[in-house]
Amino acid sequence: MSARTEDDVIIGLEVHVQLNKLHSKLFCSCGLDYHNAPPNTHVCPVCLGLPGSLPVLNKSAVQSAIKVALALNCEILPQTQFYRKNYYYPDLPKGFQITQYDYPISSNGYLDIEGDQGIRRIRINRVHIEEDPGRLVHEGTIDRSKFTLIDYNRAGVPLLEIVTEPDLRSPKEARRFLNKLRNILEYLDVFDGDLEGALRADANISLAGGARAEVKNISSYKGAERALSFEIVRQRNVLRRGEVVVQETRHFDELRGVTVSMRTKEAEHDYRYFPEPDLVPMRIMTWVPDIRETLPELPDGQRARFLEEYGITEDHAASLTLDLKLAQFFEDVAREIDPKISASWVVDVLKGELNYRDLDIDAFKAEDLIEILKLFLDDVITEKSAVTIIRTILDYGGTPAEIISKKELAKVKEDVVLSAVDEVLLECDDAIADYRRGEKKALNYLVGQVMKKTRGRADPQDVRLRLLSKLG
Ligand code: ZN
Ligand code: MN
Repeated sequence: MSARTEDDVIIGLEVHVQLNKLHSKLFCSCGLDYHNAPPNTHVCPVCLGLPGSLPVLNKSAVQSAIKVALALNCEILPQTQFYRKNYYYPDLPKGFQITQYDYPISSNGYLDIEGDQGIRRIRINRVHIEEDPGRLVHEGTIDRSKFTLIDYNRAGVPLLEIVTEPDLRSPKEARRFLNKLRNILEYLDVFDGDLEGALRADANISLAGGARAEVKNISSYKGAERALSFEIVRQRNVLRRGEVVVQETRHFDELRGVTVSMRTKEAEHDYRYFPEPDLVPMRIMTWVPDIRETLPELPDGQRARFLEEYGITEDHAASLTLDLKLAQFFEDVAREIDPKISASWVVDVLKGELNYRDLDIDAFKAEDLIEILKLFLDDVITEKSAVTIIRTILDYGGTPAEIISKKELAKVKEDVVLSAVDEVLLECDDAIADYRRGEKKALNYLVGQVMKKTRGRADPQDVRLRLLSKLG
């Protein structure tokens, strides 16, 4: 065990998120609905970088970027402009990427995340706009493939680059940051995190006293935690051997769970940034107040409101506001059913059943849960039957009413339970004698007999109490 603690770990993230709910690319009218389309079908002279074509800025992309910047507590800069970042790589048909450098759209924000010891404020250096490069496709792994295929459908998709200060102290914090960021972007309705390539992170990571390595190609939250944990161990071993961590770019191989050296890191001046002459600088301050007005309730605000308005537990509120659709589902149910009961059924029962089946909340209707809970609260079905109905809907479909009648789940009436209890007391002399001798287990047997007679539709707790009162 090393004497070092995690305290010496320094992580900063550079996150690229696609504004993938917009209708068109950043500088042309090509659509963003390319995910199921053949390669190179969503392209035009602009996003292919053909000579003579000129970029026209997508206003909605700028508005969405302002929205995100405000949600991340950033300052919007009075004047913003685009730059050319020059590097030759086949994913960039123009030979440069249109991005921002000096005068990004916003800077100086923060995002609060749940740390191990309370809230941790992660400073955000900047949020800027840029175009996504095309996608390189390799057969098998990148180092074994005989050729590289290029798909320009992705070239020119509006991207935000969100850069944090090196404030993250563990791989777990990095994962929490990415989760929270995704959550906010979804609440803002600018981002669908389920689409391939929607969120990609690069991480700068160093141990106090060492140079930093940049890990590229982190495309999932779990991946981020694994890549960074691997990298910490690697750097610790380098230092332990008395060697030096070199500043370099490393690629995360998701399949093998390791980072591999790609190249020594290029310096900023290698990119020969210069202002993009085909796009004028923008003054966007006058847009900000209107956009601020349109900001929806964000996860932290909603969580506080859930606690206040519904009186549900911290855990339930936190869990519900991790997912906008789940939060909306809960509010639909809570309009009809006691909110605490609703929260408990949505989080503790339904969410578990969904996770188990790898489904999301779209797979279940709020009306169905309302109907099931009403029947349960009116004592028409048992708690166990309510869960059975939820599972049956998820596995086979159907309505609660259909399932109740087909599976005969309606609780038996009180008089039926009473006569079943009486019958069992007449029939089971031996068990009763055992019970009176102090064999407590005999009571379970009697309960079981009543349940059998009612074909499982009595409430076992109720049956137990009735038996006890008769046995005296
Ligand atoms: Zn295009
Ligand atoms: Mn970038």
